[in-house]
Amino acid sequence: MNTLVIHNPANGEKITELAADDAASVAAKAARARAAQPAWAAVPLQERKSCIDRFHEGVTRDMEQLATTLTRETGKPIQMSRNELKGLLGRLDFFVGMVAPVIANETVFDEAGMQERIEHLPLGVVGNISAWNYPWFVGCNVIVPALLTGNAVLYKPSEYATLTGLEIARLLREAGVPQDVFCTLVGDGAVGAALLDQKIDGLFFTGSHATGSRIAQRVGPRFMKLQLELGGKDPTYVCDDADPVAAAQSLADGAMYNTGQSCCSVERIYVHEAIHDAFVAAFVDTVRGFKLGDPMRDDTYIGPLTRAPALDVLDAQVADAKAKGAALLLGGHRLPGPGNWYAPTVFSGVDHRMELMREESFGPIIGIQKVTGDEEAVHLMNDTRYGLTAGVYSPDGARAQALLARVNAGSLYWNCCDRVSPRLPWSGFGDSGVGLTLSTYGIQTFTRTRAWHLRSAR
Ligand code: NAD
Repeated sequence: MNTLVIHNPANGEKITELAADDAASVAAKAARARAAQPAWAAVPLQERKSCIDRFHEGVTRDMEQLATTLTRETGKPIQMSRNELKGLLGRLDFFVGMVAPVIANETVFDEAGMQERIEHLPLGVVGNISAWNYPWFVGCNVIVPALLTGNAVLYKPSEYATLTGLEIARLLREAGVPQDVFCTLVGDGAVGAALLDQKIDGLFFTGSHATGSRIAQRVGPRFMKLQLELGGKDPTYVCDDADPVAAAQSLADGAMYNTGQSCCSVERIYVHEAIHDAFVAAFVDTVRGFKLGDPMRDDTYIGPLTRAPALDVLDAQVADAKAKGAALLLGGHRLPGPGNWYAPTVFSGVDHRMELMREESFGPIIGIQKVTGDEEAVHLMNDTRYGLTAGVYSPDGARAQALLARVNAGSLYWNCCDRVSPRLPWSGFGDSGVGLTLSTYGIQTFTRTRAWHLRSAR
């Protein structure tokens, strides 16, 4: 039997060992999901919505225990685990509230005995391969609308957030979702790869660009619906008319929240030369004030990195930036273990020859680059293969929005950052992915549309 060992990234200790899936058990679960899906699609929508309402009640009831589990297995500071769970509740309400109009049949023409109608059907059985950094958010962005629209789901949580994945499964089952309609696959990338070999009707992935492109190559010839939500290198530009201290405080949070492990973390900052020095001073001050330590403590802001290999990525970006002349203002090194600890790191004097400004860091590190004006800032913001989010800080809304409109990114922020709303679509441009979740479009994406041409008998 395969096993999956779960470690606590804060101290390296083993938390538990789980029985993992293998190719045969993945195939068996996929067959059971296939058999169970039609009956689930036939369940009245009101009952499917009631299941998610009961899931909401379960998350609310067990919130403290769920937050503790998430913090133990990922190292996410406990207040941020609570924030994720609280934020989830609004997303659940959005999906439950919006699903009926999104999937209602539409009569789009009805004249002289000829009717044209659009029907929204579930895709069927969908696979969801998920990431660890916000497992409740990114998991439920797929799982919940997929179930509400009548799909069965084969869910492969990240091997770094599997205990949370199993809690999602427990709460859905307690809420009345049949076991074979929502199946959890336990294991690492090999189990994810086994899922790709099954007969599924859609594959929804959240994770790195490297894995996403492997998945796309593997499933491409099968023409199934494929969504990839991948990484970013999200830029922000601070204009000369912005308040440097307020912008620095907001962006330090955007760069370091969740120890920098958010897909929409601020990863590059460009500051107009007129306020650059004041901004940098306030930024460093703010980061110095972040409390680093035991993620179980209520007042901890920076925790360990979830994955040990991420330390090597940060070391390499630091060495490369130093070698190319950047100024290290804070951190720049590992902290003594056990566990995966890295000092919050701030560089100024960076440029686009450096990996720090080109490739996703996904940790508590940031590069701040001085620019001469708006044109240079827009050029640099677009000098990337990614395109998840981008921001501009300025009191002048017209200026900021005109600049943002020229940036290739799926989400644009004026005077804010690192923000996701259930009402707005979440999508990446370029190498940040294809497809979208959230908003009404993120419900419809779990359906296929069918056209009816209906002529009454004459
Ligand atoms: P990852 O690519 O290492 O793993 C993601 C999932 O893929 C895991 O469940 C893993 O087991 C599975 N997997 C690995 N190899 C596989 C294979 N060959 N076939 C099938 N499945 C395989 O990513 P991660 O470290 O879990 O997540 C971090 C990344 O996710 C970052 O790049 C981050 O930006 C991105 N992310 C993006 C969004 C978004 O909405 N765009 C949200 C969260 C995270």
